[in-house]
Order: sequence, then C-alpha cells, then structure tokens
Amino acid sequence: MARAVIYGIPVSPGLALGAIRRLHGASSGERRHIAVEDIPAEEETLRRAVAAVRAGLEKTLAGLPPALADYGEIVTAQMELASDPRLMGTALARIRHRKICAAWALEETVEELCELFRGMDDPYLRDRAQDVRAMGLRLAEALRGEGAPRGDASAGILAAEDLSPADVMELDTASILGILTAEGGPTSHTAILARSLRVPALTGVTGLPEAARDGENVIVDGLSGRVLLAPDEADLAAYHKRKAAYESFELETRAAAVLPAESRDGVRVSVRANLENARELDDLPALGPDGVGLYRTEFSYLGRELPGEEELFAEYAAVAARVAPLPVIFRTLDVGADKALAAHAALREPNPALGLRGIRFCLAHEDMFRTQLRALLRAGATGNVALMLPMITDCREVRGVRRILHELRHELAAQGLAHAARLPLGVMVETPAAVLTADSLARECDFFSVGTNDLIHYLMAIDRNNRHVAYLHEPLHPAAVRSLKQVVDAAHREGIPVSVCGEFAADPYGVALLLGMGIDALSAAPRFVPGIKHMLRKLDADGCAELVHTVLTLPDAATSRQVIHERLRRALGQELSFLATNHATPGTP
Ligand code: PEP
Ligand code: MG
Repeated sequence: MARAVIYGIPVSPGLALGAIRRLHGASSGERRHIAVEDIPAEEETLRRAVAAVRAGLEKTLAGLPPALADYGEIVTAQMELASDPRLMGTALARIRHRKICAAWALEETVEELCELFRGMDDPYLRDRAQDVRAMGLRLAEALRGEGAPRGDASAGILAAEDLSPADVMELDTASILGILTAEGGPTSHTAILARSLRVPALTGVTGLPEAARDGENVIVDGLSGRVLLAPDEADLAAYHKRKAAYESFELETRAAAVLPAESRDGVRVSVRANLENARELDDLPALGPDGVGLYRTEFSYLGRELPGEEELFAEYAAVAARVAPLPVIFRTLDVGADKALAAHAALREPNPALGLRGIRFCLAHEDMFRTQLRALLRAGATGNVALMLPMITDCREVRGVRRILHELRHELAAQGLAHAARLPLGVMVETPAAVLTADSLARECDFFSVGTNDLIHYLMAIDRNNRHVAYLHEPLHPAAVRSLKQVVDAAHREGIPVSVCGEFAADPYGVALLLGMGIDALSAAPRFVPGIKHMLRKLDADGCAELVHTVLTLPDAATSRQVIHERLRRALGQELSFLATNHATPGTP
C-alpha cells in the first residue's frame, strides 16, 4: 500500500511515475520590523529582486525550448507582472508605511492581489491568481538571494504550491514527467503548459505542500486525479499495467481519429471541436474533427477594449478559411454571468446568471452586436460558416437577429463588401424555456445545439459558480435526460439537425444516451474528439435507443448511471476508465 493517496483536478491526461522535485522553498518568508533609517535599503532590496527576476525571465525568453515557443507572450506578461505598479507600488508603500522588511511587504501584497483575483466571477481571471502567486514566490526567492529555481537535472514529477510558466520553461522540459500543484484550475497556465508538454498534471491537489517529500517516488494518475505517495510493489505493478493499456488505447484512438465515426450498426455521427480561440487550430487536423461545432467568440472581448469590425473579421475569416471545406459554427457573443464585460459592471445586476447575458445583452447593445455580425457575414464569404445564438428563450429573439442580419446584408452590399448571401442560423438550447418551446423555435432556425453546461444549471436552478450546489450539476438527472430527448425529437419532427456542444458530449454516459436519441453531431474540446469517435464505433445505436427508453423510466440519476454503466462496461471494458467523465460526481453537499 502507498504511504498516502492525495487527490487533485486532472488537467492533463496520462500516467507518470517518478521522484518528487519540489520547486520553490517555503512560501512564508522573513517577517521583520525595520527602523525608519532602514527603509531606503529595504526598498532597494525589493527593486533589486524585481530586476533580478526580470533579467532571469529575459534569459528564459531568449532560450525558450521549441515545444514552448508559443508561450513567449506568457513570459512577457510575467515580466510585466514582476514590475506591475499594483504589486510593486503597494509593496514599496507597505515597507514605508508599516516599517516592515521587503519579504513581509511582498508576501502581504501578493496575498491581497491573489484574493482580489480569486474573488472574480470570470473563471479565467480567477485562475490568474495563480500567476500572481507564482510571481510572488519567485520574487521571494530572489529576495532570499536564491535566484530562480533550477531544480536538479534528474527527471521527475514537479511539485509546487504554484508554478509560473517561466518556472517550467527554465527547466529541461524533457526531464518533467508530471506536474502537481496545490493551486490552479483547468484554465491555469500550469494546465495549458502541461498539455503542451504532454505530461500528466493535477492542479488543486489537496494537502500537497504538507504531503510531498522531495525525492520520494509518486504515481500521478492524470485520468482519475489520484496521486500515490511512496507506492509499494503491488501499486507499481498495477501502474505499469494501466499505463501500458492507456498508451495503446491512446495510439489506437489517435490513429483512427481521422476516420468518420460510425456506430457498430452503421449510424454516422458528426464529431466536432469546440474552440475558444484561433490558436487551437494548429492541433485540429491530427484530432480529426468534422469541423468546428462551437467557436466561442467572447475571448476577443474579455479583459480589453472592445474589438473593431476589421479585427474580428480577420480572426473569423482566418478560422473559416483554415477549417474549410468543413463547417465552423460561430457562436455570437455570450457575455454576462461569469463572463462580464466592463459594460456589465455598470449594470450592477444582483443576479447576473439570470440577467442580461448572451443574446439578451447583444440585443440590448445593438451597435456592438452589429459590429460582430458584420464581421461574421463577411467571414461567411471565406469559408463554410454558420451562426449560433446563445441563451435563447423566445422566438422573437431569433426574429430580431434575422431582421438585423437582413439590414446588414443590404449595408454590406451597398458598401461593396463581400459577404455570405445566406448563413445557416442556429439556436443554442440552454434554457428550460427553449426546451419547452423547441418545436416553435425549430421552425425559426436552421439547427439546434444543446448547451448542456448551462441547460443543466438553469434546469436545476443552480449557479454555475456556486460550489455549494455544484453537486446538483448532474446531466443524468431525469429532468436533463427528458429535456434532451424532447429537444432531439422536436428538431427532427421539424426537419432540422441537432447537436450537443456542452461537456456532456464528451462524457461516455452522454455519448451512449445521445447516440440512442439520434443526435446528429457531438462537439467537445479538441482533445476529446478521438475518444468520442472511438466510443461511437464501439456502441450500437439500436442498443443505445433501448437504453434511452429504459433510462427515461428511471426515477433518479444514480439508478440511470448504474444502468448505463453496465452497457458501457460491456462495450468498452477497461477503456471506460481512460475516457473523460466531465460531470460532477453525484452525491450529497
Ligand atoms: C453550454 O452552456 O453547454 C455551452 C456549450 O456554452 P458555454 O459553456 O460556453 O456557456
Ligand atoms: Mg452556455
């Protein structure tokens, strides 16, 4: 038996075995009051530490390993953070006003700034707390005169309270077998870097700083989220077996990813990728998606000035051209709730998740919306483009958008600008109102895409960011399963295709049910595409239709899970444990 087992959030898949290499020393540094005459010297110490960290980062930038070439701008951002006036100015003021040493002033300032980020609604901004903290650790080391962490040259599992991208880049990346951090979430830089390095990684590992001993052997399971500290012979044997099986599974699914996905009884399902920005396009061809099923457009709007038409057109046209002749479904701006723009701050909504988000915000800020729609119509001339509207609750919203599109086409024609004469217009089904009026909505649009992430939240009356009720995010709840069936049937009765682009599309339990319901397409984060295709090939649509029939009669999610599990186990065997299950585990609060 291992000495202990600890758990984290799996953010990069795979399995690794190696010795722990702890980065960064203890985070709590010196705490010393100083005399007035020592203030200038302490300030100077802090400035020198910043200069040393900046110099180190410049060196890192110059020698960036090829696998991480894309991350140059992250290091640049870290350099800016090192001398950020909020960080530096506040720390220097603390030295002066509280008469405390530089290390203490820095520690307090970093903690304060982290708290600010952690309290933000936007999960992306929340994860930036990790960057601030990692920079704080680096500066603290420079203050102690330790220089940047180099780690030893031997291969191992990096373990740290926090990692900044620069920490990872300074190491010999070939020697990193896995990454464990106590902080961070799925969109943290640690997660993104680990996926680029293709090493298993867990963030948010509970008890890591206390449990991890430098040099001790550990097994990192980036699929289940488990870390085995000091594994014994039996653990090691099980690990080697599981790793070999996972690696051949990966090879097999990747090799077959470019082939169409067809169930055992010959039912074809389109498997598409969800993209958050154009950068992700590079990896797409090898993963074999049948187009882009959801292009989230909000990332060009968040945390910056509003983009102009030309900038948006350049982005959308480049994406459409790269993916053509395959389709790209651009979702129009879905801000509000957890993705707030500066304009939302002025609204002071008491409950933003039930407020002016998605299509409601766009129709209320029509000038901004028109800019995006003009860019999309123009991009439509460069590829196979479709539009999709988020947070629809009413047919009038769809009609409103059609009217604007009609006017914009006239405008573009009058200006002699090339644009698509007709773009398919779809509706995202993410509200109970859209489910209940799916038949009417289907008559107003060209396709449906079910956003299960939001739909489940609105069905279950839970806030997407409230961890106290996260246990209720259960896609197998009868309300969710019945809604999906109702939407698929309504779409097909009205003769339009329907897809699912929420995380349920990559969940094995979701794939089985949705295949059984007759779904036309599934769309998920690119890395899930090969796995989804693999599952579809192993399942039969007729059997899954029977399964749906049974599940619709069951009273609760736990019973449904058992019934579906049985079928999945028969179809996939051990492979089931290699596939993504994105849903929260049902349980009690
Ligand atoms: C969804 O709600 O399921 C969805 C795909 O949209 P997002 O996660 O971007 O809100
Ligand atoms: Mg959504």
